[in-house]
Amino acid sequence: MGMSRVRKNAFFSAHPVCIFCGGGEKATTIEHCPPRAMFQFRDWPEGFEFPACESCNHGTADHDLIISLLGRTDPFTDSGNRDGRMSALITSVHQKHPELIAKMMPSAVEARALNRRLGIAPPPGMTNQEAGPVRVTSEMHRAVEIFSGKLTKAIYYMQTKNVFPPEGRIALKWFTNAELITNSGRYVVFDHLQQLDGLAPALVRSKSLLNDQFEYKISISAGQDLLALQARFGHGFGFAVFASTDGARIDASFESIEQRTGKPNPFVMIQ
Ligand SMILES: [Zn+2]
Repeated sequence: MGMSRVRKNAFFSAHPVCIFCGGGEKATTIEHCPPRAMFQFRDWPEGFEFPACESCNHGTADHDLIISLLGRTDPFTDSGNRDGRMSALITSVHQKHPELIAKMMPSAVEARALNRRLGIAPPPGMTNQEAGPVRVTSEMHRAVEIFSGKLTKAIYYMQTKNVFPPEGRIALKWFTNAELITNSGRYVVFDHLQQLDGLAPALVRSKSLLNDQFEYKISISAGQDLLALQARFGHGFGFAVFASTDGARIDASFESIEQRTGKPNPFVMIQ
């Protein structure tokens, strides 16, 4: 669904700068974050359109394909392919990243052994490879890092009307659905963050609820300088992010976590 010129002009006068690179660039494009292709029938949640400069929008198109594919993977049911677009998506990913699909897919023998170990029985009509968890590749790490950074800035902007500044820091921990499989459908990191007060809005398109494909919980400090974001994408993957508009502050709190627990911090700084 495109936007009319009138609506586009109204959009850019309300949102004049790119929110993804710190607010110094003029917005000339509209970025859908999460990408539309992740959603069944391309019914993405209302309001998830953000002002972007050319390079922030088009620079991540390849990563968006990987993210869409990851978000649609479902080891439990065929929910990721209700609109029948999965194979076209796999073909597009394969064209852009010829090695990736092969690296993601365990062999049939590996998949069978892995599924047996995890207690996964493929539903009728699905092979062990289709039903099992995928291997995580460096391209996937990169795509998720870029995507989660963008979604953090997008939701921060939605909630505060402020652009996340270039000197801010974002720390990420993400997980694939292998985590769901081994923890009976739950992401353990989210259990740890349950106490955190936050907002978990219902996401809709034309009044249908899309939370089965994408849901999040955002917690923002009163000063709007610290935030935690938990997001999950169907049965595909999820992440938790801690971010601060003041880099020094997050560095200090991370050091104290490591000193307290004596363990390396599982979060990776992505900005
Ligand atoms: Zn930009």
